[in-house]
Amino acid sequence: MPELPELEVIREVLQRRAVGRTVIDATLVPPGGPIVARDLANAGFEGALKGAVIASAARRGKFLVLAFQTEPSLLLAINPKLTGRLQLAGAGEKRMAKTHLILDLDDGRQLRYLDQKLMGQLYLTRSLEAVPEYSGMGPEPFDVSLESFRERLRPFRGEIKGVLTRGEFIAGIGNAYADEILWAARLHPYRKRTQLRADEVERLYEAMRSTLADAVEKVRGEMQENIHLKPRDFLAVHMKTGEPCPRCGTPISLVGANQRITNFCRSCQPGGLIKGM
Ligand SMILES: [Zn+2]
Repeated sequence: MPELPELEVIREVLQRRAVGRTVIDATLVPPGGPIVARDLANAGFEGALKGAVIASAARRGKFLVLAFQTEPSLLLAINPKLTGRLQLAGAGEKRMAKTHLILDLDDGRQLRYLDQKLMGQLYLTRSLEAVPEYSGMGPEPFDVSLESFRERLRPFRGEIKGVLTRGEFIAGIGNAYADEILWAARLHPYRKRTQLRADEVERLYEAMRSTLADAVEKVRGEMQENIHLKPRDFLAVHMKTGEPCPRCGTPISLVGANQRITNFCRSCQPGGLIKGM
């Protein structure tokens, strides 16, 4: 799942490569294209994008938003969820499997949307308020103060890892970076929010910001303009089951399966009831 660091770097690349370009053709590739596309504007998905100039590329939480210079305004809000990816490719470049949307740009490149499991969504809309899961989003990790972070945590009573991944608490953090942030904060992922002391909440807040800021830089270096990649080798614990903890050398523990795995170091992240073990 692309999370804040990947999406932020993708936004930067689109800002450089796609903004100011005209979409000379837009194609929803069947059978997946019509499934991931949602035309909330009733504008006709492909027809409305054809000829439109890309005015800006923004990120909010786990959404990327392309705005077009059209009258009335038109936005494409992309929520890649677990399996969606974007790709910038030459027009003649072989199409990867599960490519569902192709925007032909006037510089000969294509912006493509790929999605192995059709979990993501592409919303064409006049207003972001109409986009599901968008308007209820909490603040960005870099925009929230420690005070507001504490305040926003209060209503949540469950395990801290689950809380961190709730978009209505803070936007942009998913399963992978929640593991990384908790490792940096030395907090066990299954500690209950109600058990966290004030100093631990502050540690969590600082770890959230430093972990995500570092990750943006690393992703930027490794991804470059290959925005379909998801560089994560540099992570400390997520997907590192059995490897030595970079801080203390203890083999990294694993709980859960598939997309919902949790990795942590049981030495430097003590406590918590370990479910599933
Ligand atoms: Zn450790």
